[in-house]
Amino acid sequence: MKNVLADMALESEAATALALRLARAIDRHDDPFEVLMRRVLTPVAKFWICKRGSLLAQEAMECLGGNGYVEEAGEGVMARIYREMPLNSIWEGAGNIMALDLLRALRGGGQAGSIAEALAAELATARGANAAFDRMAEALPARIDAAVDEFEARRLAQDVALAVQASLLRRHAPEFVFEAFCRSRLAGDWGQAFGTLPAATAFDQLIARAMPT
Ligand SMILES: Cc1cc2nc3c(=O)[nH]c(=O)nc-3n(C[C@H](O)[C@H](O)[C@H](O)COP(=O)(O)OP(=O)(O)OC[C@H]3O[C@@H](n4cnc5c(N)ncnc54)[C@H](O)[C@@H]3O)c2cc1C
Repeated sequence: MKNVLADMALESEAATALALRLARAIDRHDDPFEVLMRRVLTPVAKFWICKRGSLLAQEAMECLGGNGYVEEAGEGVMARIYREMPLNSIWEGAGNIMALDLLRALRGGGQAGSIAEALAAELATARGANAAFDRMAEALPARIDAAVDEFEARRLAQDVALAVQASLLRRHAPEFVFEAFCRSRLAGDWGQAFGTLPAATAFDQLIARAMPT
């Protein structure tokens, strides 16, 4: 259970950091760099956070066991969240539409090169701290240049989201959060369900950080 909770805390903090990063870009509409970040992060954040949300809600429900599933006696908050979570991915532009919009931003008009450069500048702030992050940040510009194939669209949206989330955790979270995120989400030392972080993860610290103060 500690592994599950720590993994969900990581996912939640990364999602929150990405959402707040996008909010800052929207707030700073007079800053040309932030305008570019807003253009690229809007479809990326909408795609990835909403896509991960249903999985997170399912695991959160399971943490509460049968009490998470049943809705009797007004105790069904988790069941309602789980039921409604897929809507976030569907409405206001479904997942494929967000991935295609990322390609449109990266290909489109005079802004395209600037968007790729802005993204590289955003990621540069976290370079040199983790080998997996560095590999992903180094590979992204070439993948963006080659972003002509729609079969790659979701994969690219996912990886831009993960890279930006990692860079934000590097800047705004303790080292153990950044390390656990990079090791699991970027380096692949992770399973295919929540609760599969490697044994060396700072479980107690991750859980303590997520607890209400
Ligand atoms: C509860 C609810 C409330 C809503 N409220 C409003 C509202 O107030 N105002 C409003 O205007 N709309 C509203 N909508 C509509 C909502 O925005 C749309 O349902 C949403 O944009 C998805 O469009 P669609 O249902 O036509 O699905 P489709 O566009 O048909 O999508 C179906 C599937 O096809 C994929 N797809 C679609 N186009 C492409 C493409 N070109 N390439 C690859 N894949 C593609 C999608 O990713 C999705 O997986 C609401 C929807 C719901 C469920």
